[in-house]
Amino acid sequence: MARDPRYDILFEPVRIGPVTAPNRFYQVPHCNGMGFLRPRMLAAMRGVKAEGGWGVVCTEYCSIHPSTDDLPQPYASMWNQADIKTHAMMTEKVHEFGALAGVELWAGGAGAANLMTREVALGVASMPNLKGSPLQTRAMDRKDIRNLRRWHKAAALRARDAGFDIVYVYATHFYLLSQFLSPQHNQRTDEYGGSLENRVRLVRELIEETKDAVGDKCAVAVRMSADDGTGTPEQPVSSDRREMFEMLAELPDLWDVNIHNYEHEMGVSRFVPEGSLEKTMQYVKSVTSKPVVSVGRFTSPDTMVSQIRRGIMDFIGAARPSIADPFLPRKIDEGRVDEIRECIGCNICYTGDSLSVPIRCTQNPTMGEEWRRGWHPERIEPKSNDDTVLVIGAGPAGLEATRALGQRGYQVMLAEASTVLGGRVSEECQLPGLAEWGRVRDYRVHLIQTMPNVDVFLDNHLNAADALSIGAEHIVVATGSKWRADGYGRYHKKPCPDLGPAEQVFTPNDFFMGRVPQGKALVFDDDHYYMASVLAEALVEQGVEVCFVTPENMVSAWGIMTDEQYQTQQRLIQLGVEIITAHGLDEFDGSKARLSCVYTAKTYEIEADAIVLVTARTPEDGLYKEIAGEIKTQASGSDPAPTLNKIGDCDAPAIIAAAVYAGHRYARELGTDMAQSDVVRQDKLFDPD
Ligand code: ADP
Ligand code: SF4
Repeated sequence: MARDPRYDILFEPVRIGPVTAPNRFYQVPHCNGMGFLRPRMLAAMRGVKAEGGWGVVCTEYCSIHPSTDDLPQPYASMWNQADIKTHAMMTEKVHEFGALAGVELWAGGAGAANLMTREVALGVASMPNLKGSPLQTRAMDRKDIRNLRRWHKAAALRARDAGFDIVYVYATHFYLLSQFLSPQHNQRTDEYGGSLENRVRLVRELIEETKDAVGDKCAVAVRMSADDGTGTPEQPVSSDRREMFEMLAELPDLWDVNIHNYEHEMGVSRFVPEGSLEKTMQYVKSVTSKPVVSVGRFTSPDTMVSQIRRGIMDFIGAARPSIADPFLPRKIDEGRVDEIRECIGCNICYTGDSLSVPIRCTQNPTMGEEWRRGWHPERIEPKSNDDTVLVIGAGPAGLEATRALGQRGYQVMLAEASTVLGGRVSEECQLPGLAEWGRVRDYRVHLIQTMPNVDVFLDNHLNAADALSIGAEHIVVATGSKWRADGYGRYHKKPCPDLGPAEQVFTPNDFFMGRVPQGKALVFDDDHYYMASVLAEALVEQGVEVCFVTPENMVSAWGIMTDEQYQTQQRLIQLGVEIITAHGLDEFDGSKARLSCVYTAKTYEIEADAIVLVTARTPEDGLYKEIAGEIKTQASGSDPAPTLNKIGDCDAPAIIAAAVYAGHRYARELGTDMAQSDVVRQDKLFDPD
């Protein structure tokens, strides 16, 4: 299909200093848990973005020198010849598709602890490490500053040799340069501190020196936040920060603008809507003639066009939308807007960095698997025979298996017990703030509906005899899981017998079925991700008084991995929810709950009319077992038995991303040598291939 002419503006080439981007789609630097540790995985992942039409594809933060080391977080590095070689793998892939490659040179300051290199971290002042390590930086003296400038220049030259087209001066996200700019952190009394002019000096020098070194060939970009955190909601930008932008306005070739509050900048959709940086960063274009890029979890081409036409930005910056759909630009270009796999704003991608493992994505199961498994987000092997497949259950696992099997050309029947598709996603997306999660269902349902080889049967609760009578050569069971009502979880290692009358005990599944507690409810969170807190919020909305109890030291502790813990706890406090941390729920008699402290075992009682247990889930694998039993009984029959598999939560309850991945993997591997499927490549730096 042809591109809608309304979107033509997004495909205009834009000049950035000495280079020209082929369009306005700009993958801003984003971390991914690969960095210098997994260069082939990284190169393949970035290459797929370029193939998908992103006109600029950047690295993650890239250390200029061993005095900036962020392990265990796998950053990129530009320290030596070996780094040039590994980065060249990426730039070659990016150039193959006509895109520009950008590198975000990085000096960490108090944001890096140098746990591998054991170099003393250098800071604007002698200040405590910002990530909590028990160490302080050395306040940089003139010699340190001279060294830093030298290292930055050397790294820029290496970046040029590695084939990069855009070289960053990275002055935000609480790292070294942002601390020099900051009126709070920079209390120096030399020529690098105090006045605005002095605080800006180092950034100015680095821009000028990078231009001198590589400016004939590479564009020089500056990444800086539009505000400095000292503003108010009405006036987020201080005059100091605005003047700073005015002073530097014409120096770089491109401005990559973000905001001071990182949790807001990359906030989850539960708390932060699309396009939420605009209010803070919109002034930047009025102070510079240079192109501006910024982000906002943009997935709608109409919103993108509006951002350009209204003069907010020149490039549509994206990290997450490019992760969820590396082919987003191509789909707009080819008039396939309805096929965009929209980011849901869950930040599972961010957990790769938090946990120092390769990136994964809820919507895009191929993310991070481009090299390791050879998966492509848009292409998949055609079917290897004319077998038919019965998929049972239309949650994220069943839907993704159906979609991908359908794409392979298999004849697929999808049976779903209820009258709606989506499984847990359709339930959870009705909870406060989680509406965008429905996109996991919508993307897949939309594509499935266009496939003549896929039949969907709603309101079809299958038993084993039904499933086998269909006569499919392959049966895959994706019947999900249910939350447990017996207290079993991390805190209670076996079911707890003392949890009171059943009619006063609730689980998330009860809530989804419209069964809501009355009076005061004690929500016991032994799951530690989003479910308990979002349910607490939903209960408050329904007028229930909520007390939130967790054995952890904070609400939704795992939310740290997705960078939403702070906002989650803040939300519950603002809603007036009573929060009791570091306590387990031992007993409930229908009117009182007994809690005990996880440190001292000291107990106390609180009044409650109901308890809501968010502890663990039971796989709904009864049907799978039944079918397996039938197949075994009939084994001597003449018809060949179907293959039988289980995927997603009915196999092992986990996050939605895991269910989508399981569905995708099943579809990829059907008809292939499954025994080989676990033989995946390890991206060790010195692998011979
Ligand atoms: P997952 O996250 O693994 O995809 P979900 O819990 O989201 O699992 O979805 C499971 C789906 O399976 C639900 O929509 C449920 O209605 C459906 N289901 C469960 N049992 C049956 C059955 N016997 N026949 C058909 N569908 C079923
Ligand atoms: Fe978006 Fe979630 Fe995928 Fe990240 S993991 S890109 S937030 S859908």
